[in-house]
Amino acid sequence: MAKDKQFVTEITPQGEDFSRWYIDVIKKAELMDYSPVRGCIVFRPEGYELWENIQRELDSRFKETGHRNAYFPIFIPESFFQKEKEHVEGFNPELPWVTEAAGEKLEERLAIRPTSETMFGHMYAKWIQSYRDLPLLINQWANVVRWEKRTLPFLRTSEFLWQEGHTAHEDEKDARAETMQMLEIYRDFVEGFLAIPVIVGQKTPSERFAGAVDTFSIEAMMKDGKAVQAGTSHYLGTKFAVAFDIKFLDRENNLQHAHTTSWGVSTRLIGAMIMVHGDDRGLALPPKVAPTQAVMIPIGPAKTRDAVIARVDELYAELKKAGVRVRVDDRSDVSPGWKFNEYEMRGIPLRIELGPRDMENGQIVLVSRISGEKRIIAQDQLVEEVGRMLEQIHQEMFERALNFREENFKAVDTLDEMKTFMEAKRGFVEAGWCGSDACERQVKEETGATSRNIPFEPRQRKSTCLVCGDAATDTVVFARAY
Ligand SMILES: [Zn+2]
Repeated sequence: MAKDKQFVTEITPQGEDFSRWYIDVIKKAELMDYSPVRGCIVFRPEGYELWENIQRELDSRFKETGHRNAYFPIFIPESFFQKEKEHVEGFNPELPWVTEAAGEKLEERLAIRPTSETMFGHMYAKWIQSYRDLPLLINQWANVVRWEKRTLPFLRTSEFLWQEGHTAHEDEKDARAETMQMLEIYRDFVEGFLAIPVIVGQKTPSERFAGAVDTFSIEAMMKDGKAVQAGTSHYLGTKFAVAFDIKFLDRENNLQHAHTTSWGVSTRLIGAMIMVHGDDRGLALPPKVAPTQAVMIPIGPAKTRDAVIARVDELYAELKKAGVRVRVDDRSDVSPGWKFNEYEMRGIPLRIELGPRDMENGQIVLVSRISGEKRIIAQDQLVEEVGRMLEQIHQEMFERALNFREENFKAVDTLDEMKTFMEAKRGFVEAGWCGSDACERQVKEETGATSRNIPFEPRQRKSTCLVCGDAATDTVVFARAY
């Protein structure tokens, strides 16, 4: 018992210090470790497999919608960044440069890619000549580097992993449809696969991607009330096409600039998932993304042990065959209680226990990580019940996250009202906004919150700006953000 207790106290409670809780959990669950290079992390197998599962699912959705993968170089010539003015201003402060190689100074500095609009732009100009070459729909899985001053594992690191889609189209209508399609794929994936409810909307001009005409995002609330931008999709208009000379002969034989888009999600999704679902016992992984969905633990005294383990192995084979990601922990040198704590801390959605009494009755016990619900079922129902319970756990996780968000969400009319709410509760605020940068800045200065997006479905459309009281052009969601 002493061991069990010591185990749990190694995680700082969320209510005491949320940031420390986060670091304790990701280190203890062996998702990552700090690297010798400041601001960069090592994705350990437990963490990397989460990314692999995210990748596999998203990749199939991209391919179903006609996209193909390619790989472009990590080095981008400096001159490329000079071609699109807003883009270079947005990314310049964070760029690391390669200035020499093989002992010689390079003629032109090379940036380590922060994003690849410029490289894709350069290549698309070569590949696109006619409307018959459009749409061009390419995605890249890659690492990118943005030299960040303040870093936080998974959520903000100098090097991270992501996917970036880059597409070119005949006209605005087609490009905008692509922008919205990818935003919807992200929403559906983050809600349906990671069990994270999101707010879908458009970024205000000051929060737009550098060089975009319009940026759209999905925003999620963490358990400390802060926001994480979970995915973005940009309509780039003809800005990059003009900068990189992506031109094509249209159906009437006129030379036109292509309309382009870009969209991405990154390993921040892992950080968001941890901060949305985790609790004082540790990680809580949504079943669809969990590397291990269920762990089987034989229990009972030594004299019945061999028989129990033999039955566990048979049932394990059945689950495995049905496609459940399951493992068995039959170590005899650690107690079942210790194992229970261990797998709760690691966030494994379902625990399956089998003891001598269950053997006699032809039963088996299922325990949910998220609710603690214990279900005793017939062994011949195991495969079906595990499937049902994993689905139920996903639903419960989504609903819990949604309820939490709604409890910490307030529509306000004035900045004072917002301040009172942010001091007492920390969460998301929805308010009217007149469209001016000055009012948006004032909200940030006085509350630390930034505009997250202009939701497509606000809970309440507001008629006046929360700062100046003038007529509101939009209803905006504000929050402190990671
Ligand atoms: Zn205003």
